[in-house]
Amino acid sequence: MSAESASPQDNERPLIAVSRCLLGESVRYDGSDRRVAWITDVLSVHCDFLRLCPEVEAGLAVPRPAVRLVAGEGSLRALGVADPDLDVTRELSRYSTGKVGLLGRVDGIILKAGSPSCGLTDTPRFDSSGREIGSGAGLFSRVAVAVWPALPATDEVALETEVARVAFLMQVFRYRCRRHSRASTQGRVLNNP
Ligand code: SF4
Repeated sequence: MSAESASPQDNERPLIAVSRCLLGESVRYDGSDRRVAWITDVLSVHCDFLRLCPEVEAGLAVPRPAVRLVAGEGSLRALGVADPDLDVTRELSRYSTGKVGLLGRVDGIILKAGSPSCGLTDTPRFDSSGREIGSGAGLFSRVAVAVWPALPATDEVALETEVARVAFLMQVFRYRCRRHSRASTQGRVLNNP
């Protein structure tokens, strides 16, 4: 394709939303990070990142008390591990519904496994007595997946193998092509009512 015929979007790199702790930011409850070198040193060469940390961006401090998900009677709450009276469900839910629209700009998402906010499938759930009763998505992830069900979504554990990384990147590029082709079709319809 000639430089003259290339549209601006042809030159854009894919945009991937990534949990900030995976990018080496010290935002976890205990002030640590969980940097993944493949993301920061390899994926960053090919993609741009939208950094997100639901807990910090919802207003929680670093460091902060650890929370866990407690399920009961149709509810799922993020309560303190040491102090069950600490309830940050409202802050995290408000952040999630307010920010999830941003994911309309991205081509994929990589979230921190097992987190009460970011975990996609493996976040432990407890009953009110502290007994582990299963696992599922975190408070931000479940909103993200419900609103953007076709968005390629994964976590750092699933990306441990080369095969999984290549498969994820192929999903990202396919999703990006579909997203841009939808946008250009909508643009033509708007320009030619
Ligand atoms: S897992 Fe999510 S909420 Fe927790 S520190 Fe990482 S980015 Fe923030």
